[in-house]
Amino acid sequence: MAKEDVLYQHGTLALLVPGLYDGTMSVADLLTHGDTGIGTADGLDGEMVILEGKAYQISGAGTVREMAPDELTPFANVHFDDPTNDYDRENMTSEALEQEIFKAHTFANQFFAFKIHGTFGHVQTRAIDKQKKPYPPLAEAAKSQHVFEKDNVTGTLIGYYSPDLYQGTTSAGFHVHFLDDDRTFGGHILAYNLTSGKVSLQTFSDFNLHLPVHDSHFVQADLNDPELDSQIKAAEH
Ligand SMILES: [Zn+2]
Repeated sequence: MAKEDVLYQHGTLALLVPGLYDGTMSVADLLTHGDTGIGTADGLDGEMVILEGKAYQISGAGTVREMAPDELTPFANVHFDDPTNDYDRENMTSEALEQEIFKAHTFANQFFAFKIHGTFGHVQTRAIDKQKKPYPPLAEAAKSQHVFEKDNVTGTLIGYYSPDLYQGTTSAGFHVHFLDDDRTFGGHILAYNLTSGKVSLQTFSDFNLHLPVHDSHFVQADLNDPELDSQIKAAEH
């Protein structure tokens, strides 16, 4: 297996649901497993975007900065960018872009990266503030999210598609973040439409799930929440 065939994930979405937000992997470690991806920071401190081997944090205040190698993350996905499909598109909604993928490709049962670099007519993002201990559950923390909007913005939308059966391990379906080319605007995507840009897809044969087995909160937590699906949907969409 080539390194480009692997989607690497540290932590699970399910561990964020009850509030396990302490960072358990350094940015430096994470970047050894990929140069592109998404995640969150220690304490659920904003949204993370990884592009060209650099990790950026979009804070709850909406500010963007590059993260230091020793900063920690409780949950992130990365891969080595090497798209299997590239194509140009103009004037499309997010729904049309997503539906088109499954009409053109038999990707429904696979993990794949979804990246668009281009100009977006409208982008709506959110970012969550760093949480204070005792940490509230994810659905509660997400209620205080900050929403940001920008028109005619040029940048990169990056994230992943996971099949529905992996809900809990991941946030199933599309989970995408955004960072503009000026590195001043971004976050977890709530809505967007594309004016003009290049869509890149990268399928993965391998999913490398890394768990924080040395974290006492993780090993002692009861993660079998019967409301997991609705909790994730409330927080992530
Ligand atoms: Zn997100």
